[in-house]
Amino acid sequence: MLLAHVALPVPMAHTFSYEIPARLAGRTRQGARVLCSFGSRRLVGVVVTAGEGEPPPKVKALLDVLDDEPALTDELLAFLRDLSAYYLAPIGEVMRLALPPIERAVARALEDSLFETKKGISARRVQTVAPTEKLEESALGGQAGAILAHVRAVGETSLVDLEGRWKSARAAVKKLTQLGLVTTGSREVQADSFFAAPAPRDSPPELTPPQAIAVEAIATALAAPSSGGTFALHGVTGSGKTEVYLRAIVAARQQKKGSIVLVPEIALTPQLVSRFRARFGDDVAVLHSGLLPRERLVMWKRLRAGELDVAIGARSALFAPVRNLGLIVVDEEHDPSFKQEEGIRYHARDMAILRAHRAAGVCILGSATPSLETEHLSRSGKATKLVLPDRARAQPMPAVEIVDLRRMGPGPTGDKRISLPLHRALEKTLAAREQAILFLNRRGFSPAVRCEACGELCSCPSCSVALTFHKRHGERLRCHYCDFETLLPDNCVKCKSPALALEGLGTEKLEETLATAFPEAKVARLDRDVASGRTVDAVLGRMRAREIDILVGTQMVTKGHDLPHVTLVGVINADAALSLPDFRAAERAFHLLVQVAGRAGRGDVPGRVLIQTYTPEHPAIVHALRHDVNAFLERELVDRRELGYPPFSRVGLIRVDHPDEATAREACAMLANVAREAAEAASREGPGRVAILGPAPAPLARLRQRFRFRVMLRSSDRAMLRRTLLAVERARGQVERTVRTAIDIDPVQL
Ligand code: ADP
Ligand code: ZN
Ligand code: ZN
Repeated sequence: MLLAHVALPVPMAHTFSYEIPARLAGRTRQGARVLCSFGSRRLVGVVVTAGEGEPPPKVKALLDVLDDEPALTDELLAFLRDLSAYYLAPIGEVMRLALPPIERAVARALEDSLFETKKGISARRVQTVAPTEKLEESALGGQAGAILAHVRAVGETSLVDLEGRWKSARAAVKKLTQLGLVTTGSREVQADSFFAAPAPRDSPPELTPPQAIAVEAIATALAAPSSGGTFALHGVTGSGKTEVYLRAIVAARQQKKGSIVLVPEIALTPQLVSRFRARFGDDVAVLHSGLLPRERLVMWKRLRAGELDVAIGARSALFAPVRNLGLIVVDEEHDPSFKQEEGIRYHARDMAILRAHRAAGVCILGSATPSLETEHLSRSGKATKLVLPDRARAQPMPAVEIVDLRRMGPGPTGDKRISLPLHRALEKTLAAREQAILFLNRRGFSPAVRCEACGELCSCPSCSVALTFHKRHGERLRCHYCDFETLLPDNCVKCKSPALALEGLGTEKLEETLATAFPEAKVARLDRDVASGRTVDAVLGRMRAREIDILVGTQMVTKGHDLPHVTLVGVINADAALSLPDFRAAERAFHLLVQVAGRAGRGDVPGRVLIQTYTPEHPAIVHALRHDVNAFLERELVDRRELGYPPFSRVGLIRVDHPDEATAREACAMLANVAREAAEAASREGPGRVAILGPAPAPLARLRQRFRFRVMLRSSDRAMLRRTLLAVERARGQVERTVRTAIDIDPVQL
């Protein structure tokens, strides 16, 4: 009988066999989506293999085949099978990561109609506003003045965009048009926000010698008959890594190969997208969370059909159906957001290496601060290191200075956290009409509210964390983990004392304090409370147009934005990141400090960075101070080797959670025992060893009303660790159904 072995989206590791009815025989090919009945349900699965075979008892026939051309190419299918094996993840669920969205299971008719909309993403006509040559203006105040400055700073923009920023933009533009200061027109744009503003085409600059060497090496690898390889591109911020990516894509195109570019958070990188559009036009697929399912489907189809050969996106773009894949770029490869933290817990960087390898393609891991994992690959010869030592436009690196908070009294604001040196530096920056960025890793007004009578913190009823006080939008306490919200209580829940005190400093309070201390300055804030997707772009646009003098923000301000007028960067508290209970704490803090420092002095005026800290002797700070990435890597590698942590060992985490603490602990203990027994059995067969730590409460012991426990497994013997985890995977079925368990291989969050 002709059988199809189908991966179905169910949490089971194996495939399911179905009879291929004669009418579907021609189209039931490997990688095609098929409609199957499964129990009482109908599911869409993917054919993993098909051929003659002995049918299992009560075999059912396939109901339909959804693709004329298989949805998954052989390359993608093989990669997904590898990924499923590596993460011990059910094949059917892994496949789902790569399949196009379908609104309804059997939406064939719908799909056909969508396929008709070729270009798909509906084009819209927008009214454009552009500056004219005329420069004189007589006392233009208010919104018209601001809009003119903005339009001059960004070149052409759309009226819609201006209306999003200024209430009376329409009237102001009319006035400016009458004065001959701007012209208006109209133009077709893609509805996608990333394509809303035009991207003037650029011409490729002449490469610097280190860039030329890097591009040459990559192009050679792409052209070689047994092509492929992993490259670690290490270059300081502004050294021209992006230019290398652009040339690598061109080199791949010359070999008729497609490319994928992975970035940490696409919403935070509108500038990067613009640069790709400037070089390649609008024929790049930008995959981001703002796409509607049908838009995503259109992108997917255009890539699958080979109409587009470049896909840019966050980690899930790893699964883009790019044809003839030749190149995967992982930009900011050190960024923890490449790790998926739910469902299939894959690491997009690691899997990019695997997929590129599978496709005999090239993988580029780019960063100013390489991860220890990537550095280890270079040092052990598994990746070729390419170095861009200097900034491309020859700006000097900013001067980094330490402010030792142990020796500082309160600054002029009365707040110790805006120290005197930082205060003076801000004054100087404002006097010179330059811009400053202040980085603080806590959003909200105050990170904690404490009872001064009994010491009790106001904490989340569902999570083991303190509630953050947010002042704007009505003085509320909020949990940053589960979004629980409540009004600030009048009394302590424990002792009923009314003496509740706000503790600590959040971005909201910092913004307020600065606005008071520097009344003539325009202070703005960029964090998740004020910005999402489109608004990030708006805030950065206002920065570029110099409508903001001081920008306060969380990690969002550290990303690769190129803001030429920023000359001062202040890190309010460098110690926060260092105190995490995680063997990667020092590495993360170092990345953060170097990245945020890299925002200073990108233009013509040299930059200055002030790092406030209570631990100025910490290696992460000392090396950030000297921009000495290599010394930091060197030292950190020595530590990791001594302690037996990755990249010198592999880690697997067993995660267990349940609303009842004892149930969670017991289930975790059961799995820990399975792991111990399996590890022992494995150690009788080989010289290796698996260290097992726990069960122990997770660092965040309770989240969304569930108690969390974990067991950590560690070994330098990969096969042995795998065998142990496989035993745990099999035993997961034995825990009670209400208990949630997960195996996290190469975890990033502990
Ligand atoms: P990175 O990605 O390493 O931060 P970018 O590629 O963004 O660096 O380059 C920083 C700046 O230098 C950009 O404005 C870019 O246009 C410019 N640049 C890059 N390469 C060159 C070059 N070869 N010649 C002139 N300018 C360059
Ligand atoms: Zn109290
Ligand atoms: Zn909570």
